[in-house]
Amino acid sequence: MVIVAAPRAGVLALQGDVREHLGVLARLGADAVPVRTPADLVSVDVLVIPGGESSVIDKLSRAFGLQGPVRQRIAAGMPVYGTCAGLILLADRITDAAPGQQTFGGIDVTVQRNAFGAQVDSFETELEVPDLGGPPVRAAFIRAPRVVEAGPDVQALASLDDGSIVAVRQGRLVGTAFHPEVTGELRFHALLLDLVRA
Ligand code: GLN
Repeated sequence: MVIVAAPRAGVLALQGDVREHLGVLARLGADAVPVRTPADLVSVDVLVIPGGESSVIDKLSRAFGLQGPVRQRIAAGMPVYGTCAGLILLADRITDAAPGQQTFGGIDVTVQRNAFGAQVDSFETELEVPDLGGPPVRAAFIRAPRVVEAGPDVQALASLDDGSIVAVRQGRLVGTAFHPEVTGELRFHALLLDLVRA
């Protein structure tokens, strides 16, 4: 008999909606743990970067000595899923950044922060995501970014009616401008866990 251990899934726990992601990962059977230190990062098979405020997560990641280790794990092929601020942190380039703001990078995209303007700061919509199969995703956008330019190795997983790309994948890195973890959507996290075994 082969016993396959549950993947150990970390959530970068510096700021943002950490608890919601831990909940989704645990529901999917992962050993879900917060990641606050380089030692925590070493122990995980996959990482979620939550929504929150990307400039704050960036600053704290540098203060906690995590920027270099996260970049190294990304370069070494660790599966990572970023939602909203997490997508911004996975982007190689950003526009409308806070002064001095940096990213981990890894996905060859330019992401525009706070792309949907003040009146429609937050909205929910149904999104077709053909790669996930099944019904549309109920997607919550909260001061969300959008992808304004994508390199040739980037796959657009979902777009809004106006053509804005709001979900992308490059290899083992997945990013969404919206928050599936607040609408009971499990399929993006399931995809992340599948990537460990891939
Ligand atoms: N606007 C935020 C930022 O720039 C992202 C918002 C979110 O994660 N819900 O980081």
